Amino acid sequence: MKITKVEAFPVEFPLEEPSLDATGIWYTWNTVIVKITAEDGTFGYGEIGPIHGGGIPIFKAMVDHKLKPMIIGESVFDRARLYEKMVGKGTSSYALGQKGAIITAIAGIDIALYDLVGKILKTPVYNLLGGRTFDKIPAYASGFFGKGGRALTPEECGDEAKSYADQGFKGVKMKVGFGEKQDLLNVEAVRKALGPDLGIMVDANQSFSYHSVSKIARELAAFNLTFIEEPLPINDLDGMAALTTSIEVPVAAGENYYTRYEFREVLQRRAVNIIQPDVIHAGGITETMRVAAMAESMNVPLAPHIHASVGVSAAIHVLTATTNTLAAEYITSGGSFALRKEMCGDSFMAKDGWIRATEEPGLGIHIDEKVFEKYYPKSMK
Ligand SMILES: [Mg+2]
Repeated sequence: MKITKVEAFPVEFPLEEPSLDATGIWYTWNTVIVKITAEDGTFGYGEIGPIHGGGIPIFKAMVDHKLKPMIIGESVFDRARLYEKMVGKGTSSYALGQKGAIITAIAGIDIALYDLVGKILKTPVYNLLGGRTFDKIPAYASGFFGKGGRALTPEECGDEAKSYADQGFKGVKMKVGFGEKQDLLNVEAVRKALGPDLGIMVDANQSFSYHSVSKIARELAAFNLTFIEEPLPINDLDGMAALTTSIEVPVAAGENYYTRYEFREVLQRRAVNIIQPDVIHAGGITETMRVAAMAESMNVPLAPHIHASVGVSAAIHVLTATTNTLAAEYITSGGSFALRKEMCGDSFMAKDGWIRATEEPGLGIHIDEKVFEKYYPKSMK
């Protein structure tokens, strides 16, 4: 069965109010949806992104001018070979790089091929990955984005945490990195709102120095955290490896690493206690399964970064099949959640703190393609 059509749809979704983490502020939620059609008319969807701060035309151009010509006319089933072909294995030049944008674009195509193959074979994607290891995945609520250009107050954090507990989530992940005093007050408010039994994770988005995270980690330990995410700049693997043995709170990272080669480095250096590949960054389902297996061989649990629309279903199918599954991130607010609802309806919504892959063929997602016109980026018109 041959690939006959490859399309990339850029989406720029305006936020009702600006969103914020420790790294900065953003006003739109951007992504690129890939659609691949086979010669019998069956099609599958993938996702490239998310993309903060512009750059959408680059991803569309990568698909249209670089990757599409490489896969048109190829067999839809040859995902591993096509992945190697697209990353340029065996070629003499890696002019577009070996991580970052090009791998993200390849991930979008890889995910669309999985969806397509599942539909052609009339089976859910997890059956292409080893079948069901887990019937349902524990989902933690991820949110606590700043509002209107400022971080949340302790009271706002407590209220948000309470709303997640009321929805049945067994854990929450909150943003930190807004100054030691504010971070501690916010975490204290969340622990108070949740009581002693629910999990709290904190995400620093790379904003601490080694000294500052060592200091605050001593205080944070009192709140019994499940993990601290990206405490240091992602390339400081020595610093992170030192943290995994020097602080009590487990260290997690992965959303900004690409391909099995970079994850191999992270794992070999013992820079994390929990690994968080994002299927739409790391290289798609093909590469994320390899990363998961590598982590499993080192007793490192998998809790992927999930912050997308089509990418949510791709991640849940991976987590259904992997054997070192820990938890799924579940974004409950902001642009990605609002866009996902409008574009994909109620597919892959968490219920009582659990999320499960459907038994529909492929990824089990249905896209209202009207959004591609409605949210076509202004800068590309
Ligand atoms: Mg994060």
